[in-house]
Order: sequence, then structure tokens, then C-alpha cells
Amino acid sequence: MSELRFDGVTIRYGNRRRGTTAVDGVDLTVPDGAVVGLVGESGSGKSTLARAAVGLLPLTGGQILLDGQPLRHGSGPRPVQMVFQDPYSSLDPRMTIGDSIGEAVPRGTRSADRRQEVARLLELVELDPARAGAYPAQLSGGQRQRVAVARALAARPQVIVADEITSALDVSIQGTVLNLVRRLQRELGTSMLFISHNLAVVRYVASEIAVMYLGRIVEHGPTAEVLADP
Ligand code: ADP
Ligand code: ADP
Repeated sequence: MSELRFDGVTIRYGNRRRGTTAVDGVDLTVPDGAVVGLVGESGSGKSTLARAAVGLLPLTGGQILLDGQPLRHGSGPRPVQMVFQDPYSSLDPRMTIGDSIGEAVPRGTRSADRRQEVARLLELVELDPARAGAYPAQLSGGQRQRVAVARALAARPQVIVADEITSALDVSIQGTVLNLVRRLQRELGTSMLFISHNLAVVRYVASEIAVMYLGRIVEHGPTAEVLADP
């Protein structure tokens, strides 16, 4: 995994005279192997920053660096993979979960290896590989979200950006997804930017917390310190 760094990143929607500066000069580093929690009120710019990190939005200013190199969004698998609040943003309801995950495995992988990789990823997210033929609608919300994580991992990303991935889940099943995040970090050293408006969720997975307000990072530090602040 890798270090992701936002360096003076500014993102505006609309034009110069009429528009919104959604992200305003953000400096933020996700260290190699760390889970950094990004919290903030609705509208503070979290999703905009996330989408820029995976190349879904152009920057107005600044740059995004992966291990010190400007992030490139060419063809081929994206080095930064995103998992969304709604698993259907990355899972096609008409495809089996095995095919959805397999599709994200880098091209050039032989089909037998691809099947093996799908089985390995399903096990990693604690689903029975025998369920590869199931469709997303046949799974629970928590299982679907774990399949979305498996699909993101299939692309062998350097960093994962998780945008409110537990927010649409019942509290009783949020834990299965959060435990997966913790395990990925511990066992694979996955670098992750973990976005949530829910502090209880963030404190459970993140070693550092950054607080966003009106497009800026207004506070950033170790989780215990940020939460201890009056
Ligand atoms: P958050 O994820 O923290 O809720 P967003 O990144 O979604 O915040 O939004 C930040 C700001 O950008 C808000 O003022 C929002 O209204 C605005 N915004 C978000 N998406 C768009 C868009 N596609 N076009 C114009 N403005 C947008
Ligand atoms: P969540 O989907 O919220 O993470 P669980 O993973 O505990 O919750 O699964 C919910 C239900 O789905 C359980 O009752 C279990 O019987 C069934 N289930 C879970 N994983 C599998 C699997 N790999 N194969 C078959 N059934 C499963």
C-alpha cells in the first residue's frame, strides 16, 4: 500500500463568478498503512475530496500525490479505489457477485487465476466462495457492502477511499463492515481514507481524524487527541 497526499487541493463547482468552492486548499496526508478518518458536517466537502482522489473530478488547484508522484488517471485499474455508501454504485444488480469482483481483477489474468482470486477475496471479506453465483439482491446489506470492498480490493489498489460505507446500514450490521476495515488494515496494511459523519464509527477504525468544515481541514491529529478536544 502507499501514501496518499493532498497538497493544496482546491475544487470548485461551476464557474469563477457563480460557483461553490467545495474544497478549499486542503493539505492532508494518509500515511502508508494508516486509516485516516475524515469527518465533517454534510456539505463540508468530504465527498468532493473523495471523488477527486479517485479521478472522478478535476482539481481547480493543487495536486494529489501517491508516494510522492502526481496521481495519474490513465487507462487500466485505478490506483485509488473508492467504496460508496450505496453498494449498487459499484455492483451491477444484473451480475453475480463473483462476476462483479472478477471484472475488477486486472486484465491479463488467466480465467482460472481470476476465479481463484475471486474465491480468495470472498473469503477475505468472510463470505463463502460457494456464494459467488449469488446476485447482490440475494445478500444482506452488510454482505453487499463487503462484496463492494472485495471488488475494490480486486483491482489491487494502493489506497482505498471509503465514503460513508456504513451509513446506509442498520447499526446492528455496521460492525461486520467495520471489523473488516480493521482487519484489512491490520493484516494487509491497507491505506485508507475513511469518510463518515458518524464519530463513533470513525473512532472505531481510524488512528487519525481530520475534521472538515466549509471545505477546509480545521483539525487533524491522532484519534484520541482529536476526540479529547473540548
Ligand atoms: P459532504 O460530502 O461533506 O457532504 P460535498 O462534497 O458533497 O460535502 O459538498 C460540498 C459542497 O459542494 C456543498 O456546498 C455542496 O452543495 C457542493 N456540491 C457538491 N456536489 C456538487 C455538484 N455536483 N455541483 C455543485 N455543487 C456541488
Ligand atoms: P451481515 O450481512 O449483516 O454482515 P452476516 O454476515 O452475519 O450479516 O449474515 C447474515 C445471514 O446470512 C446469516 O444469518 C447467515 O446465515 C447468512 N450467511 C452469511 N454468510 C453466508 C455464506 N457465506 N453463505 C451462506 N449464508 C451466509
